[in-house]
Order: sequence, then C-alpha cells, then structure tokens
Amino acid sequence: MKSIEDINKKIAAKTAVVLTASELKKRIRAGETITPEDVDVVTCGTFGIMSGTAAVIAFQAAEPGAFRHATSMTLNGVPTHLGPCPNESNGHVDAMVYGTAASSRTGYGGGHLFADLVEKKSVEAVIETDAGTITKTITIDEMSSARMIVTRGAFKNYMAFVNPSESEITTIFSVTPMQGNMNEATFSGCGEINPLENDPTLRFHTPGTGALVNGAPGIILGTGTRSSAAKPNLSLAADMKNMDPNLMGGFRMPTACECLTSVATAIPVTDDAALAALSILDENISLPVAAVTNRTAFDAATYADAWNGDARVRVDPKKCTTPECNRCRDLCPREAIREDLSITKSCMGCLTCVKVCPAGAYSANGGTLHTSTGEIKIILRQSDRVRGELAARTLRDRIRSGSWRFGGV
Ligand code: SF4
Ligand code: SF4
Repeated sequence: MKSIEDINKKIAAKTAVVLTASELKKRIRAGETITPEDVDVVTCGTFGIMSGTAAVIAFQAAEPGAFRHATSMTLNGVPTHLGPCPNESNGHVDAMVYGTAASSRTGYGGGHLFADLVEKKSVEAVIETDAGTITKTITIDEMSSARMIVTRGAFKNYMAFVNPSESEITTIFSVTPMQGNMNEATFSGCGEINPLENDPTLRFHTPGTGALVNGAPGIILGTGTRSSAAKPNLSLAADMKNMDPNLMGGFRMPTACECLTSVATAIPVTDDAALAALSILDENISLPVAAVTNRTAFDAATYADAWNGDARVRVDPKKCTTPECNRCRDLCPREAIREDLSITKSCMGCLTCVKVCPAGAYSANGGTLHTSTGEIKIILRQSDRVRGELAARTLRDRIRSGSWRFGGV
C-alpha cells in the first residue's frame, strides 16, 4: 500500500515513476510482471467529439454607460447566450458559447472558435445593444475570463453505430450518409487509454481532483450529465488561456459542427486494486454495436477491433485522377487537406477521405468490427487516439517535472 501523500512526496522529489496508460499496457502485453512498487502514477487521456463542451467568456465591450443592456452577441458569427449577469450600463458582457453552436459561416462552429481563441487569433464580436450595434475584434488575452466547462465528457462507454435498414441514412454520426445493410460502422472512444476505462468505479476521479482539459490544468467537477454507474462520464472545468490548440478544435459535418475536446487524468497506483483496474486492455473492453436508428445495442465488438489498424491515413496524390471532384477537401471534417492533397497536422485520422475518394488516393486500415452477425468495416472514427495519447503524455511530463500534485494543480 502507498498513500497519495507518499506518491505526492515522490512527485515533489522527482523520483516518482510515471507512465502513460499506453506505456503501462505495452509492458503488460510484453509479459512483464508489474507490481504497485514498480509504478507510482499512470496518466490516461482521451480526445474526440465531446458535444457537451461550452465556454464562459467575459470582456469589456464598450465604455461604461455606452449601452444599458446587450441583447445578443456573436463571435465570428457563432451565436452566444448572454448573461446570467445583467451588467447594466457597465459596458461589460458575459456569455456562454456552446461548442456545438454553428456560425453563419458554413463549417465553422463553437469548437473552431475555441481553438481560434486559444491560438490567440482575433475574433469579431458583434453585439446588439439597446444603443445600437457594437462591432469589435477581441483576443483571449483581452478577455477578463475565458473558462471551458465540459458538462459531460470522457465517457467510459461509447457505442459503435451501424445502419441496419436497406437505405442509406444521414445522421450526426457520419459525415456522409451511412450505407444500409450494416455495411459500415462509426464509433467513438479511445479504449484502453480512456481515463474511466482505467478507473471504472471513479475511485480516483472524484470532485475537486486535478485534470488536464485541452492540455490546461483544470478540475473534475463531478460526474457529467447522463452519467451512470454503468456508463460514467466526467464534468470538468479549466481556464482556456492555458490550453493547447492542438488538443481541441472543431469537427465540420454537413449539417452540424461538433466540438473536439481532450481530457487527461492521473491515477495513483496505491495498491493492487488500482493496478488491476489499470491493466485493462482493448481486447477486454466491449464496444456495443447499436442501430443508428434507435441507438439500441444488439451486438458487441471490442476496442481491439476499433484500434488495431492505422491511427493515421496515407495519401498518394498521383492516384487522384479527377482533381476537380474535390470531395476529399470538401468533406474533410478538419479541413486538413491542402490543395496539393497533402495532409496537415490538423488531421485526426477520422477516415472520411478514405471513404469518399473514388480514386483510392487515401488509404488506411481503419479497423473492422467482429460481431456475431459478421464483420463490419469502420468508416468514421470520432475519436483520435494519437491526440488522446498526447494528452496523457502532456500530463505525464508535468508530473515528472514536479509541477503537479494529487489534490491540487
Ligand atoms: S483522415 Fe482524412 S478526412 Fe479525416 S481529418 Fe484526416 S485528412 Fe481529413
Ligand atoms: S477525392 Fe480523390 S479523386 Fe477527388 S479530388 Fe480528392 S484525391 Fe482526387
């Protein structure tokens, strides 16, 4: 048995053994026998669409007395919700911005706005007031407050979705219409590196515990909306001013904009029970398969099916025979494909380009779900394990440097 205090002392002395979940599982797969004496802390991470992400921002919009009340505001065209503070006649505005809010600009939403703010880009605020319209550009550094709140995220259990009907269906779970007859599947979740897969009873994910949200120090507020013992998730908060734009962003879909968020947490290896929970592997994590039409699971695969392929796609531009089709660039949810078809670091390996290119210019083994009713090819990933691991490494490095403690960030 080690106490949290023992581990904190080792962290302060920079003698703690800190591994990411991937590093621990690699050693377990290699057959190494690991005991709680061998490791002190394991960091976990997840990155993907987390629709329940919002920001609370506040700034001085005009001189005191310039207007009495603001009635509405957009930021880069993204609608916000003003209040709850009335700010009567003080020229200040407070607003909540939903990560899923779509702007007047096609393909740009709250998630894109959050990343632009964190990148310190100027955004355009258009504020309707009783004294007329105020238009101003503003950066995050000029905001008196910019805080992100995840109302539910890092779900332990996601589902894979398929379309069992005979005709294709347009759905929020796919960038292109989903083919019928269970020909293709989409899924979310980072499997064995997800924080709650490694602490399913939330023993170490209690309210007030430190965590990284998009790379920034934050805290776990508690469980999120729709959390249950069987399917827990977390609610978290963090200051946006310290976030990493590479660990967050927007996800463009034909009919909606989604918000990409990352969460990293640390689990102290205090005893055998903690280590046993941390030893879960993809092949032991069920991935229920549900019909997208009623969201009811009727079968199950595992996260080994989902993540045993390529985390990133390859492109061979020479295979592009009809550049004027432009489907890859038009449909990439991350706008990650350049004119010369090369792929930028914004790519999250979602597989959309692999599916939509008629010339086969993009390739990746995106995984196949093995179910009792047959094999179903994965055509869209809504999570990015590469960035989930990056989030876990970011927290690991903070702990190794001694700049993080259990019980305070
Ligand atoms: S996998 Fe393809 S479509 Fe998806 S983000 Fe990367 S480049 Fe874009
Ligand atoms: S989708 Fe394929 S064929 Fe069309 S422009 Fe892109 S690479 Fe070329």
